[in-house]
Amino acid sequence: MHTLHLNKGRESSLLRRHPWVFSGAIARVSGSPEAGETVRIVDAGGQALGLAAYSPSSQIRARMWSFAASDTIDSAFLRARLQRAIARRSALLNDPRRTACRLVYAESDEIPGLVVDRYGDYLVCQFMFTGVEVWKAEIVQHLRELFPCRGIYERSDAAARKHEGLPPSQGLLWGEAPPAIVEINEQGRLYGLSIEHGHKTGFYLDQYDNREMVRRLCQGRRVLNCFAYTGGFGIAALAGGAEHVLNVDSSAPSLELAAANFARNGFSPAQYDNLTANVFDLLREFRHQQRRFDLIVLDPPKFAETKVQFKKAARAYKDIALQASALLEPGGLLVNFSCSGAIDMPLFQKITADAVLDAGRHGQILHYLHQAEDHPVGLPFPESLYLKGLVSTLD
Ligand code: SAH
Repeated sequence: MHTLHLNKGRESSLLRRHPWVFSGAIARVSGSPEAGETVRIVDAGGQALGLAAYSPSSQIRARMWSFAASDTIDSAFLRARLQRAIARRSALLNDPRRTACRLVYAESDEIPGLVVDRYGDYLVCQFMFTGVEVWKAEIVQHLRELFPCRGIYERSDAAARKHEGLPPSQGLLWGEAPPAIVEINEQGRLYGLSIEHGHKTGFYLDQYDNREMVRRLCQGRRVLNCFAYTGGFGIAALAGGAEHVLNVDSSAPSLELAAANFARNGFSPAQYDNLTANVFDLLREFRHQQRRFDLIVLDPPKFAETKVQFKKAARAYKDIALQASALLEPGGLLVNFSCSGAIDMPLFQKITADAVLDAGRHGQILHYLHQAEDHPVGLPFPESLYLKGLVSTLD
């Protein structure tokens, strides 16, 4: 079998079961593995460390399939991994009031690069890595059998594939094409989403618990929902008894979907407004107009893709938190998020604290928020913790 020989000392992360082998860790390659092929990983002394999938064009040169060198990486191996990922979520999948859920979360479920999300009767997959790309047909076949559904759709259109030398890939993999709008149920709230055109695989499943949190904090409050997308937090806010919700997003089509979602849940147009605007500008305008809110959600897109962009991102997170803080009534709640992996919770807390201070306010953190449990964090793989949020009350 093809073998990657590591440099001396570079085995330590693998001994802790971290799943990535970086190009700099590799002393030499024996054999001539193709992209996606299984390779043996050995330390400088020739000791086997496990089996991985090879990715010649990526800085992450190999991703571990198994830390047991005696395993065989084949269709049955993959089936067992998929089965385990689904079994881990059985409590969530048996909840009739939760018809959408991530079934497979890549490295955290020990299937590097594969994401599978369930939206009602449809599954949506992302193959983000050569290792799973070469097993696509087998994976689809197993998913059909392990999770009976109407159709399986691919949304491997994300930028991450570029690093792998893989072109974007989107379309039906098996079964019926999903309808233009698929409806999901989230604890009695209904959301319509587009599997074909929506962000990620269609919806922000990672915010599930945080929508629940917002729902229970909103009674009687005037809510400003910034970066509203299709109304995820806004609908949770009204379901929780908010007096009014103002949704802001720069994308008019997203807000159209949001409007349909508010109607789907029986909310009247008097209960909410949708505003197409740039949040950075609008918050300043509102400050000038002395507008006031009782709860503000800030859930922006990823401002930092990489560590290099992270200073600029930190400034952007601070800017919106500062402007929003100035709009909150005494006792108001700031609910702000970052989904940038490069910004960890201690830094995000510091950014938020500085922003609140610079707005001339004082506050306390009531809740630390993270991604939902169907997006678990592999114990040896802290990189998979990417979503951070804070609920702060301001005096
Ligand atoms: N909160 C949403 C997800 C937000 S995704 C949910 O829970 O479903 C980020 C959104 O921010 C996108 O809809 C995008 O259109 C919007 N956006 C990006 N930059 C923006 C800006 N400067 N002003 C307003 N909206 C912006």
